[in-house]
Amino acid sequence: MYLTQPLHRNAQQRPDSASTICGGRTRTHAQTFDRVARLGGALRSHGVESGACVAILALNADYYFEALLATAWADAVTVPVNTRWSVKEIAYSLVDAGVRVMFVDDAFAGLVDELRAHCPDLGPVIAWGKQPPAAALDFETVVAQGEPIADAHRRGDDLAGIFYTGGTTGFPKGVMLSHRNLMTSALGCAASGAWTPEGRVLHVAPMFHLADLASLIGQMLLGGTHVMLPVFDPVEVLRTISDDGITDALLVPTMIQFLVDHPRVADFDMSGFAQILYGASPISEALLDRTRRAFPSARLAQAYGMTELSPVATMLLDADHDDPVRRRSAGRATPHSLVKVVDPDDVEVPRGTVGEIVVSGDHVMLGYWNKPAETSAAVRDGWMHTGDGGFMDDDGFVFVVDRIKDMIITGGENVYSVEVENAVAKHPAVTQVAVIGVPDDRWGERVHAVVSLAPGATLTLDELIEHTKNEIAGYKVPRGLSVVETFPMSGAGKILKRELRQMYG
Ligand code: ATP
Ligand code: MG
Repeated sequence: MYLTQPLHRNAQQRPDSASTICGGRTRTHAQTFDRVARLGGALRSHGVESGACVAILALNADYYFEALLATAWADAVTVPVNTRWSVKEIAYSLVDAGVRVMFVDDAFAGLVDELRAHCPDLGPVIAWGKQPPAAALDFETVVAQGEPIADAHRRGDDLAGIFYTGGTTGFPKGVMLSHRNLMTSALGCAASGAWTPEGRVLHVAPMFHLADLASLIGQMLLGGTHVMLPVFDPVEVLRTISDDGITDALLVPTMIQFLVDHPRVADFDMSGFAQILYGASPISEALLDRTRRAFPSARLAQAYGMTELSPVATMLLDADHDDPVRRRSAGRATPHSLVKVVDPDDVEVPRGTVGEIVVSGDHVMLGYWNKPAETSAAVRDGWMHTGDGGFMDDDGFVFVVDRIKDMIITGGENVYSVEVENAVAKHPAVTQVAVIGVPDDRWGERVHAVVSLAPGATLTLDELIEHTKNEIAGYKVPRGLSVVETFPMSGAGKILKRELRQMYG
């Protein structure tokens, strides 16, 4: 299978129903098919050869969707760029991937001249939005003038794109994913009920990140409609869900927290909201409870995975959210995926024992772009070593306890931040929490909680200790507390613990 395959089926089966809705524009499946074929033709005529890399540097939009698919249609490779990077980082990735053609929107049009100076091989830039740069081609004109070409029907093992990891633990790595990789993960999730068939999926998580791309492919497979929002504004998201009839949304826990804790959440009609797919970082049980209350009609599904796994390995289904133990897990391996937990010698550990989570299947990446040593370190015997610590119970539920790099060792005992975060999050004053290890002369590391609080609420370290010692063992109880207004976040909406360690360590 390949990325553009569902476009053909949707245009055949439901030509007149909506494919994309964005900024007041609605395109039908037939129109999307036609536009992608034209844009594919235009890319060819602008010198995009088979296997060439085409970058997209833009906020979420229907045009993003078309650019991505037209690239595959023209037999090329997509390189979605992280919009939070500095110009130097963007330039690095464009040069690293050897990008020939780039799509931009008006939010990034101002960077084009500087990028060109860094990337002499960069050819045409195609821009959408109100203020396209002078030296760029206008997207709509390019589509209108493009001669439609036949789909390249790329093969399963062909490279579909280079997708950069979230950059949570360090500089992002380019992950090479094939069409088979991407379609395998999407099909496995669809088979697990990750999306409502023919649903309306909201794209508000950044489309450059694979979490959202997975929902994009999944809903294409199910014949649905894609609704794009360029930025995350809680009221705008709530309004779009209620007024545009959104059934499905991929949200990261941070976004969920902003929505459910928003003072206006009850002003909107959420009765049509059928499913929230969340993941990309751990979620606390306290937030799950608030989510159930705020969106009673929505089924919950958690996905665990990583860019290197295209991206999903396990899912926690709605019914399992009501089980007091399973709700703390990331669910079970999806049909396309095989998961086990191993020790440092790659020997499987007994159930219930913490080790490294490893994953195999057709969704394991082809490798890291230009990084063969890192690839062979990460993928051994076909098993992707996730760098995540966790354990599996007797029924195959996988509990992610921490990134191995984030684990805290205090007085010789392992402390997993997820468990502590869950305990802290149960305090009614706490809206968001990250637990880190900070250096300690006596214990090696000391457990430190960084929290944000509900409006007007206060919390002292003594109160926090009193609260958490009822929940977890004494050595896991935080010995330090910092209260913050906002957390340092990655472009994909994850708390950057490496920055917190620098600030409070
Ligand atoms: P980088 O690899 O550049 O440091 P990153 O690991 O955040 O960034 P992604 O590929 O976006 O990049 O994220 C994958 C990681 O996100 C996983 O390894 C895991 O640590 C975390 N993660 C994903 N889903 C979940 C989940 N459901 N629960 C807990 N953690 C999750
Ligand atoms: Mg990673």
